[in-house]
Amino acid sequence: MSLSEFDLIRTYFSRATGVRADVTLGIGDDCALLNVPAGRCLAVSIDTLVEGRHFLPTVAPDALGHKALAVNLSDLAAMGAEPAWVTLAITLPAPDTAWLRAFVDGFARLAAQHNVQLVGGDTTRGPLSITVQAHGFVDPAFALRRSGGAVGDRLFVSGTVGDAGLALRRMRDNAKIEAEDSYLLARLDRPTPRVALGRLLLGCATAAIDVSDGLAADLRHLCQASGAGARIDLARLPVSPAVAAACGRGEWHYALAGGDDYELLFSVGADQADKVLAACAAAGEAVQEIGCLVDEEGIALVYPDGHVSKEIPDGFDHFRT
Ligand code: ADP
Ligand code: MG
Repeated sequence: MSLSEFDLIRTYFSRATGVRADVTLGIGDDCALLNVPAGRCLAVSIDTLVEGRHFLPTVAPDALGHKALAVNLSDLAAMGAEPAWVTLAITLPAPDTAWLRAFVDGFARLAAQHNVQLVGGDTTRGPLSITVQAHGFVDPAFALRRSGGAVGDRLFVSGTVGDAGLALRRMRDNAKIEAEDSYLLARLDRPTPRVALGRLLLGCATAAIDVSDGLAADLRHLCQASGAGARIDLARLPVSPAVAAACGRGEWHYALAGGDDYELLFSVGADQADKVLAACAAAGEAVQEIGCLVDEEGIALVYPDGHVSKEIPDGFDHFRT
């Protein structure tokens, strides 16, 4: 980009977030200089959002700013890490100040909520694409890995699943706008990273993953890493009224394979489950038990009428695929 364009962009980004005491040097030099607290690990995660693949061209820029950060904070949450710093690489077709201001607003609002400082990045011209790298701290002895689950552990998921997938379906179908659609759209555009829940689970969950590709796909990752299978009681899936209605029509794919939920899926030793549930309730974190880890490979779905199937419904025609 030309210098003036870059100055403009830097003006927006350098105002984007607050200042943390552990940042010796932030935006403005060749590198940032950052201090990791003694005894803790740096947890690092990166995600790219590309127009047309991860978001529709019509998405509001402040929603995009929120989501680009949220999906990375969700990865930190899934490890039980405390968010600290982020870097942002953004490729823009042209510097549009109104668009940028709104993008930075959405980004900065979520960053402030989590005391995250933007410490650097890169700005280039080209087709719209956003990459955020998030850095957090975690005690390596307690970090929530995917691999710690054991047969007999109980499985839980936070929030509700399937809302974002259903929102996307409705947008693509140009379905009639209903009252519940604004709720579904907010779930797609402004996911809530479950950072506090992840930290609460340190030392009590045996394994965890965030649900980004759909409950079944991410459960499969957790199962494979943990060397176990799973049995899921579909009647217990936490779903909003709109997704419950879809499930009632036999359309289970939103809840199981919709993607973009950014909820936490985690396993807990059977003897710890009541304690974890009580701690979540006390902290105001909604979690629901959905099944357990078993020694038979694969994912067994128990339908409300009692029949069991290992076939994962995949009726979801995602715009990314
Ligand atoms: P260099 O050419 O040395 O990589 P740049 O000119 O790309 O430096 O960037 C100058 C400073 O602005 C650096 O500190 C960089 O981290 C920061 N920066 C550039 N783009 C962004 C961005 N999109 N968000 C945050 N910081 C950025
Ligand atoms: Mg550069």
